[in-house]
Amino acid sequence: MPVLINTPIDSIEYNGSRIFVKRDDLLHKEFSGNKARKFAYFLKHDFPNVSRLIGYGSPVANSLYSMSALAKLNGWQLDFYTDHIAAQVLNSEKGNYVEAIANGANVIDLSLVDDRQNRSCGEYIEQVVLPADKQALFVPEGGRCLYAREGVHQLAKEISDWFSVSKLTALTVFLPSGTGTTAVFLNEYFVLYAPDISVKTCACVGDEVYLSQQFSELITDVSFHPEIVKTDKKYHFGKLYREFYQIWQKVSEQGIEFELLYDPKGWMCVEKLLADAADTNILYIHQGGLLGNATMLPRYQRKYPTT
Ligand SMILES: *Cc1c(COP(=O)(O)O)cnc(C)c1O
Repeated sequence: MPVLINTPIDSIEYNGSRIFVKRDDLLHKEFSGNKARKFAYFLKHDFPNVSRLIGYGSPVANSLYSMSALAKLNGWQLDFYTDHIAAQVLNSEKGNYVEAIANGANVIDLSLVDDRQNRSCGEYIEQVVLPADKQALFVPEGGRCLYAREGVHQLAKEISDWFSVSKLTALTVFLPSGTGTTAVFLNEYFVLYAPDISVKTCACVGDEVYLSQQFSELITDVSFHPEIVKTDKKYHFGKLYREFYQIWQKVSEQGIEFELLYDPKGWMCVEKLLADAADTNILYIHQGGLLGNATMLPRYQRKYPTT
């Protein structure tokens, strides 16, 4: 199995400051970003009895694509359950869904099965799918599970090794969060082994209260939780905002392409940190997800043609 570790750290100029960027988008050409870190456990260890991987979530998410890549690398079948697959997704030519199918993923639209009986995706898997296949390996939505700790701690170790040979005295690591799994396990490592480094994050999927709850489900002790940075305005996940598109363009002009779902809000928070001038050294984690730009960018271009 390939061991996917040790990505480079670059830097870009942003609003007159130097920001370090951990290039986890370069982890592997087919399997990169934070999903590859969170799923590293499943590449590193042997699962002799497993032949099928089960997951669920959005058919356009990076999780689907990443699980398909993981399954392919391990020679497993991926069965991915979803609430609904929109016609435009089925007919798309690029993006996470199409690439997952190309990797051999079996994506099951639960709105089309007869034995669903109003069950949620998670309940359907627990009550119908898993009892029928005791050897299937089930990974919760977005890889939110304790297995993620191992790969995220490896990422933290790479950053802390780099930090100890740099001449920096303190470092803020920033990354935008969905489930918060990556951020909380990263910060846990730094609290334990590299106290001059601390993690700041922002809530992209729910609000700040939701994100704290997500942290607590993985680690109850709040002293391990990262600090959550808030934007002045509230943004809804997956919606398109002109200021998101603008900041994405501004960052991309510095020579590194970021993704369009999480990173725009992430960079807004970096701007805030720079304006507050409290954080002199910032390292932003590029968590991959670029495949999604194939569908997101045309949507932005249609909505804001003059931006
Ligand atoms: C999944 C994902 C996230 C969110 O990661 P969490 O560990 O769920 O917080 C952020 N950015 C990108 C690009 C992702 O694919």
